[in-house]
Amino acid sequence: MRAWRAMAVALALTLLMAMSAGCMRAAPSAPVVVGETAQVSDDMRPCVHVHRPGREVLELPAPAGGWPGHPQAIVVLNALAGEVDIRDRLRDRCGTLDDARTLDSRFRAGVGTVLVPEAGDTMPIEIEFDPNPLPLWRPIVQLGEPAPVQRADIVRFAIRIASLAVVLTLVMSALLSFVATRERAFLTYAATVGAFAVWLALLSGLWAWPRPWLPVAGFAVEAMVGLATALVGVTALALVRQSWLRLRFPALEHGLRWAARVLIVLGLATPWLPDPAIAALSVATEIGFYLAIAAFTGVAMLALWRGRPGGASLLAGVAPFLGVAAFELLAPTALAVWKVEAFMLAGGWLSLTCSMVLTLRLGLLRQQRDEMRRLAETDPLTGLSNRRAALDRLERCIAEARRDGTPLTIAFLDLDHFKRINDLHGHECGDRVLRHVAHTLRGAFRSADHVARMGGEEFLVILPGAEPEHAYTRIDALRTMLSGSAVVLDVPGLSVTVSAGLGALQDGDLGVDPLLQRADAAMYAAKRGGRNRTEFEAVRAGESKETA
Ligand code: GH3
Ligand code: MG
Ligand code: MG
Repeated sequence: MRAWRAMAVALALTLLMAMSAGCMRAAPSAPVVVGETAQVSDDMRPCVHVHRPGREVLELPAPAGGWPGHPQAIVVLNALAGEVDIRDRLRDRCGTLDDARTLDSRFRAGVGTVLVPEAGDTMPIEIEFDPNPLPLWRPIVQLGEPAPVQRADIVRFAIRIASLAVVLTLVMSALLSFVATRERAFLTYAATVGAFAVWLALLSGLWAWPRPWLPVAGFAVEAMVGLATALVGVTALALVRQSWLRLRFPALEHGLRWAARVLIVLGLATPWLPDPAIAALSVATEIGFYLAIAAFTGVAMLALWRGRPGGASLLAGVAPFLGVAAFELLAPTALAVWKVEAFMLAGGWLSLTCSMVLTLRLGLLRQQRDEMRRLAETDPLTGLSNRRAALDRLERCIAEARRDGTPLTIAFLDLDHFKRINDLHGHECGDRVLRHVAHTLRGAFRSADHVARMGGEEFLVILPGAEPEHAYTRIDALRTMLSGSAVVLDVPGLSVTVSAGLGALQDGDLGVDPLLQRADAAMYAAKRGGRNRTEFEAVRAGESKETA
């Protein structure tokens, strides 16, 4: 094994040196040219949908006295469907948000351009676009000096990318947690937040950067509404599950599960719905979402007031969306300018708090499970492992001894005339003796796992790696020490002695039983031999019984 490791290290070092030598021989800092020479000017993209019937035209009027003759930056955000055309008397710039290759490269978050209307000209700048498909996502036109408009555009783009990155990180982290723990809840979380990430990519237009990478060309709006519809149902269900409502009103969870299923089916059906139905669905979904957020805020406050668990995390999770809902109600125009970013940040935050709650809850469940397992494997009187745990442990020790070719010896220790102790000094005193013996045994061995109470006044000690002679010496010393228990317990007239029987693992042993039987037989031999002694198993099976 060690030779293999040394060879692997030598090979890696040789490879590393060979690569370094190769790199040094290549020209060290020669510049690298990538890309190719531009053949045609790609400054402007021909407009396709201009002047088609049904399109809307917005006029940005010239200020009093005509345009000042400075450059004017114009960015159209949230034009979710179709081509946007921005023009003055001289220039015409067209772009669609679902393909970044059609955009002016100076603007990233929307369709933008810089126009320079002649000084004194009074002709308005015209913006032509398709009717807005989603009533609550109003297009925004930002106008101003090029540099500040561009900087605001970069901030917007950065917020969008950062939010999407956070959400995708949460998805990856949940997937890794699933691989590590096999908890299905992580997979459900990853699927839900993954769908949310796709929705965010569609909403922010990032799905079209640097070229469209989601296969939704032609039905991006339908996909957005469909995903939103399904996500509202799943989110409501997830929030109910992490609140005390689940325990208080089981029917609510059941009902929401059905509602979530219906919404998922409805979401999947959006590509086949007519445009007015999609618009209505998007409004209904959004208002439904705001109402759900308001309801969960109430639930969280109630939980905090009544001191129930989960209130603080639920309130923290939904609070940003509550702010968004309040703005939608009280100042929709102010919200509209940053609505995409607000949804991305609030959604990212909600995903983060849900991830935290999930991890905490599963950690708690795991703790409870470990505690229950510990209780199931522990003897309540002495705190030692019980028979079941001891047999498991012995099985593992035998497997290790076989694998490593090391010896293994076990010892049975049985208190002598324990019934008499109970009879003479009371059951309570008997219990004290048992606890004291357990305490002594635990202190005598490095690993508490190797000592167990097999039942009644009988104990098992596993000695992995111990040769029989060495084990005999140790156990006999321990037996002598235990005989001093009466002195320590200070009970007048009490006498504690122990009989011990040892057995060593043999090549032909199948499972734990033969070894246990030999140690047991050796212990009975010690009893028959007069008690208060240690016996080693007879070399041939069955001989120990004759020793007496
Ligand atoms: P021997 O030397 O042959 O082992 O005799 P013994 O009396 O120790 O063996 P026996 O198996 O006849 O009796 C064991 C006694 O242990 C009977 C039972 O009342 C007592 N015992 C078993 N569990 C407990 C316990 O948890 N607490 C107390 N105080 N006594 C127990
Ligand atoms: Mg006994
Ligand atoms: Mg016994």
